[in-house]
Amino acid sequence: MFKAILIEKDEQGYRAALKDIDDAQLPEGNVTVKVAASTLNYKDGLAVTGKSPVVRKFPMVPGIDLAGTVESSSHPDWQPGDRVVLNGWGVGETQWGGLAEKARLNGDWLVPLPAAFTPEQAMAIGTAGYTSMLCVLALERHGVKPEHGEIVVTGAAGGVGSVAVALLAKLGYTVAAVTGRLAEADYLKSLGAATVLERSEFNQPGKPLAKERWAGAVDTVGSHTLANVCAQTKYGGVVTACGLAGGMDFPASVAPFILRGVTLAGIDSVMRPKPDRLEAWRRLATDLDLAKLGLITREITLAEAIPAAQQLLDGQVRGRVVVRVS
Ligand code: NDP
Repeated sequence: MFKAILIEKDEQGYRAALKDIDDAQLPEGNVTVKVAASTLNYKDGLAVTGKSPVVRKFPMVPGIDLAGTVESSSHPDWQPGDRVVLNGWGVGETQWGGLAEKARLNGDWLVPLPAAFTPEQAMAIGTAGYTSMLCVLALERHGVKPEHGEIVVTGAAGGVGSVAVALLAKLGYTVAAVTGRLAEADYLKSLGAATVLERSEFNQPGKPLAKERWAGAVDTVGSHTLANVCAQTKYGGVVTACGLAGGMDFPASVAPFILRGVTLAGIDSVMRPKPDRLEAWRRLATDLDLAKLGLITREITLAEAIPAAQQLLDGQVRGRVVVRVS
């Protein structure tokens, strides 16, 4: 038997509870992992609360991330005792996920846990932090350099935002952090933000083109915020769009793209090919300051993950939450 959060949906409604589950109920897969730690991402918040239909099979163990040790494997790449990380691939949505003491998975989805990290540190990063790194890599690939000017990060006190601020600052970029929680200004400055700006300057309808401010952007918010960030991006700048915390719409014009040559780079972490994942984790191991990761993170238990999921959606969680599983 192992403990897991189980989401059920039937005539009694949609509910998540901590349950004891028989190993025989584990889904099919060629690697069984003893989970050391998991985490709560925005999508896990949606899954646990049922606020959006991210879970597409029931019963479901949520958790789009996990870190742990291989218990058994018939996959050629993995042996018992190997330390592994998993992010995405529909795990926690269509396939049982990481908010459990045990997981059975397709070995193709796993990447080696970098030696630089404990499982808890890897989960402090989680999909949120790995997505931040994908955004930074996209800025680099499009030639954005620290000397080109400021990088704006929206939803900065959230998980993706906090890691993005820390990564960009360590790499020498000047970071402007946009937040709805000005009380977190000192936190954002401690992560390396040079300036902290109020969310309300960004989340209202704006002009198609505005004063040029940003060399690049990491946007986790979408909607008017993304439209305004694009409108404020300098000639030739790059906006990476990864989130929808403020809405899925994009009420923008083509003006920044056709008049200023701005690039809008879409960032998906879920189905990202393995070489990109390996590169992102390799760069996280060298470019993320572990002391800052400690500032970003708080730890909870599996049972506490259920109420914390609602707090995350309510915008009350700062940075990242690690779920210590075993
Ligand atoms: P968090 O909940 O940790 O952070 C989101 C932050 O967005 C909040 O902390 C808040 O920051 C800000 N925010 C929340 N609600 C609003 C609102 N209504 N208007 C404007 N800002 C708001 O989530 P994550 O960091 O884990 O994820 C951020 C986004 O990125 C989510 O939409 C998530 O789905 C997406 N995502 C996408 C991935 C991909 O593969 N493309 C992977 C991972 C995440 P503050 O308080 O500082 O304003």
